[in-house]
Amino acid sequence: MLVLGLETSCDETGIALYDTERGLLAHRVYSQIAVHAEYGGVVPELASRDHVRKGLPLIREVMDEANLSLKDLDGIAYTSGPGLVGALLVGACLGRSLAWSLDIPAVGVHHMEGHLLAPMLEEDVPDFPFIALLVSGGHTQLVKVEGIGQYELLGESLDDAAGEAFDKAAKMMGLPYPGGPALSKLADEGDAQRFKFPRPMTDRPGLDFSFSGLKTFTRTTILDCAVDGVLAEQDKKDIAAGFQAAVVDTLAIKCKRAMKQTGVNRLIIAGGVGANRMLREQLRITAEQLKGKVYYPRPALCTDNGAMIAYAGAQRLNAGETSDIAVKCVPRWPMTDLQPLGKVLSQ
Ligand code: ATP
Ligand code: MG
Ligand code: FE
Repeated sequence: MLVLGLETSCDETGIALYDTERGLLAHRVYSQIAVHAEYGGVVPELASRDHVRKGLPLIREVMDEANLSLKDLDGIAYTSGPGLVGALLVGACLGRSLAWSLDIPAVGVHHMEGHLLAPMLEEDVPDFPFIALLVSGGHTQLVKVEGIGQYELLGESLDDAAGEAFDKAAKMMGLPYPGGPALSKLADEGDAQRFKFPRPMTDRPGLDFSFSGLKTFTRTTILDCAVDGVLAEQDKKDIAAGFQAAVVDTLAIKCKRAMKQTGVNRLIIAGGVGANRMLREQLRITAEQLKGKVYYPRPALCTDNGAMIAYAGAQRLNAGETSDIAVKCVPRWPMTDLQPLGKVLSQ
């Protein structure tokens, strides 16, 4: 089954072609970073307009790259939530109309289910059940995954998401938006021990997270170090290293706890922060300590992309699920509302 996947939930237009027999055939991601950079964050209206502008040309590019035509498609998957409603509607309208004109089924995909299943696009695929650490710009969650659509939420952030904390700390340090990758690069040259960042909520039981305290600690450390409002380069690197180590340690402690608590020793990491090298390395060690294994997608499939939507949509379409002709997007949508594969045949 050949499926076209469309991702437009935020500030990346991701388009991909996935075939259930042949795997990922082509994918393209257009990032709107330059559009939003001068505002320091995503401007929803501008995001929607840019998805409108880039959708069709990118679809043409992936079809050309795979040497296929629209007539070859068996189904279309689009992100139907959660995300910015205007941005979601662009992809949903595009996908639904294209499917209608081609007389093929379309299905709306949950963005976080897409992230969660992205490791399945790699060679080494985990068996169910596994524990998923979802760490992105809007989510930090630990989920026990029994199968596609069978998700038990074990814990989540009570305030900022891990990616959001990275971005906010980076902004305080004067790094360009989105700051996560830039902060992580600086951290490579810093001394993580110099400033004693806390490991929030690790000294009490439970699997929830809180990252707002790290933001405050970053702010006060910057104020302590800055001379006439300016931070020395080495201070910046050491603050970045201390911050990153605190986030990574905190996530690793909770992952270990989740694996011990459930007795499941397979762990997957997904979402943009999953691209972080230190996090990947530390979780590899954590899983090994429990005689388990960690799985993650290549960095390009950690951040938003169409491949994960094409993959998740292909599984649901293959099980006979389709979305109604009326376009419906769900900006706020808990992943635990999803049903096991094939249970809801029409939405
Ligand atoms: P959500 O998926 O929750 O709706 P989103 O789609 O905006 O949010 P993603 O695209 O999955 O989030 O991830 C983007 C986030 O990942 C940003 O916060 C970014 O700073 C962070 N990020 C990307 N690469 C790295 C890295 N190497 N280190 C730390 N953070 C990173
Ligand atoms: Mg993004
Ligand atoms: Fe995302």
